[in-house]
Amino acid sequence: MSDRLLVVSNRLPLTTRRAGTEWRADLSSGGLVAALTPVMERARGLWIGWPGDAPSGDTEGRDALLRSWEQEHRFVSVDLPAKITRAFYEGYSNNTIWPLLHGFPTLVSFDRETWHAYLDANERFAAAVIERAKPGDLVWIHDYQLMLVPSLLRAARPDIRIGFFLHVPFPPAEVFRILPQRDEVLHGLLGADLIGFQTHEHLGAFRRTLLQVLGTESRMDRVEVDGRIVALEAHPIGIVTDEWEQLVTTDKGVARRIADLRDRHAGRQLVLAVDRLDYTKGIPERLRAFRHFLLTRPEWRGRVTMIQVAVPSRERIPRYVELRREVSELVGELNGELGTATWNPVIYLRRSVSRSELAALYAAADVAWVASLRDGMNLVAKEFVACQRDRAGVLLLSEFAGAAGEMGEALRINPYDEQGSADALERALKMPEDERRERQDALLARVRRSNAISWAEGFVAQLRTAADDRDLASGPVGEPKLVALRRAYRSAKRRVCYLDYDGTLVPLASRPADAVPSQAVGEIVGSLARKRGTTVVIVSGRPAVDLERWFGHLPSVWLAAEHGALLREPGSTDFQSLRPGAGTEWKDHVRPVLEHFAARAPGSTVEEKDYALAWHYRLVEPEFGTWLSNELGVTLDQQLAGTELAVLRGSKVIEIRYAWANKGEVVSHVRSIGATPDFELAIGDDRTDEDMFDRLPPEAWTVHVGGGQTRARYAVPGPPAAIALIAALAGASSAAERAAD
Ligand code: UDP
Repeated sequence: MSDRLLVVSNRLPLTTRRAGTEWRADLSSGGLVAALTPVMERARGLWIGWPGDAPSGDTEGRDALLRSWEQEHRFVSVDLPAKITRAFYEGYSNNTIWPLLHGFPTLVSFDRETWHAYLDANERFAAAVIERAKPGDLVWIHDYQLMLVPSLLRAARPDIRIGFFLHVPFPPAEVFRILPQRDEVLHGLLGADLIGFQTHEHLGAFRRTLLQVLGTESRMDRVEVDGRIVALEAHPIGIVTDEWEQLVTTDKGVARRIADLRDRHAGRQLVLAVDRLDYTKGIPERLRAFRHFLLTRPEWRGRVTMIQVAVPSRERIPRYVELRREVSELVGELNGELGTATWNPVIYLRRSVSRSELAALYAAADVAWVASLRDGMNLVAKEFVACQRDRAGVLLLSEFAGAAGEMGEALRINPYDEQGSADALERALKMPEDERRERQDALLARVRRSNAISWAEGFVAQLRTAADDRDLASGPVGEPKLVALRRAYRSAKRRVCYLDYDGTLVPLASRPADAVPSQAVGEIVGSLARKRGTTVVIVSGRPAVDLERWFGHLPSVWLAAEHGALLREPGSTDFQSLRPGAGTEWKDHVRPVLEHFAARAPGSTVEEKDYALAWHYRLVEPEFGTWLSNELGVTLDQQLAGTELAVLRGSKVIEIRYAWANKGEVVSHVRSIGATPDFELAIGDDRTDEDMFDRLPPEAWTVHVGGGQTRARYAVPGPPAAIALIAALAGASSAAERAAD
């Protein structure tokens, strides 16, 4: 098996140019290249991406150059025909997905043609990977331009390991769902073994979107799709800290430039802003807040200068052209209104600056001001901290930048709040040195620790684990060997058998009232319960009355009703709450919501249990039922956040109950009483039974009934096989034969 790393990103980190009659290519010096170079070298990797626009004219020379880069640097160029490049990149990627993911729904453009270009381009990137990947290769796809590539690869090459990292934010489900191609894009991502996000907030938004749009439930760190596990993680990107620190400490040119800047601005504090000219960065908002600051605090005029570096970006998209004009006008007005013959409030550099110039600016500044309205991470914040060793300047950081999640010692601002931002700026300008130093030291330590190199290595390591787990999870789970099971049962002294009811002891019925245990099943469970040293626990989502009616007469059984909210101990005739004192007042608030949904969907009903409420929609038209159940689930999730209640999405049912009322708690409760058993068996068919399997030790006999994913050690095909297995232990073979008929 090969173990190479194939990185796939929209742009290859190189720029081609013509030098006289020859073609040359330069390596770009971005953060991603620096972060990935060490892991790429170790893993003998390939980098697959688009080499940029091919100018018309002599393309032969350029093609030859790109081929030589593939040989020497292992950069694989994916050529995109000119007619799709624009629709793919400026169209769907930057005019649809970018504003969507940054939460600017009014800027999202909807256009079938650009979607087709996006699809086409993603297919070309995937084809380049498919052509070169060897079995076992790790493929790491980057960012929002390539969200369909994971599933395209999964379909064609199940033999490779696929990771995806989203560098930009993921928006709330309410925003994402406006995308006409929302299903396609989500399924595109879910082709991966691992999907990485910058923050837990983005990851949470993605999970809520899966639920709301696809009706797919997930856990904090995984989602199951088509019998596979897709791992989910939040893993914030860092910077190559050493590079920046070295620039400011050892580069003589940078040192001269820092001294020069300090000299020129002697007697004034410098406030630095560095952004691509993008509407997500909050550039106009910051200029307005700075104006407000100078208008309301005239004593600062002449004592503070803002340097705004604005790197031109996406200039063929009208919204960016408009922003450029708006920013130029705001700067002009501010300087015209408040500037003097010897001082301008804002120095505006609308161009990119070299890395050494940028390092000098970071080092010379007293304050860096990040005003992003929405930002995946914001590396400028981290670069500033890395370059501020000596001065201990202050970072004003928008709470809407991903970086805010990690950089708690920065002064947090809401960039939409002019007055609050102005107050924070004043606080930063006046902050005493010891406080600045304390904040800076903590920030720097963290920026060094979670740097870009550890980020890349961490992601690749996580991808290996995720792919291993995916294979394990999809591996066949065999039936338990009855001989071995019986032997283990017989040689044990203290045995506990946890039996689920619906779907295990009886087949699922479309009306729960029809799923009544046959006499034979009653006999088998009865004879197991009567065996010396054997405790039977019936663990069901059913109300107590049902269990009482069917199994109440049996000696020495535990009955756990409503998923464990109510327990009847052996020898007792009463059910007790697993948490005595748990209230039921909440039902008065939740019931009207369920009734409202029941009224909207003919055929759906509300079921009331002692400690739970359920909305059943088995008889509702399937598509409408699924849509409504997603709506109900999301509504309740929001309503019940922070309470002890949980929303359970079952098969054609949404149930609201206490989070502690789960079958895993029943296992823990039974295990906490008496001596530790030396034989434990749990059999169940649905997701709620997985909680039992999780809570039992690895050597327990955990058996899943039916197909699909499970964490059980074994599986049997259906209730008859489950009954046969129980009968084998109970020694009730004749009853088993009758039960199987
Ligand atoms: N940057 C640059 N040239 C410049 C100014 C900035 O290459 O003239 C770099 C800067 O060092 C930083 C990146 O651009 O690494 C901006 O990253 P950030 O995460 O802040 O925003 P993005 O542009 O990715 O949205």
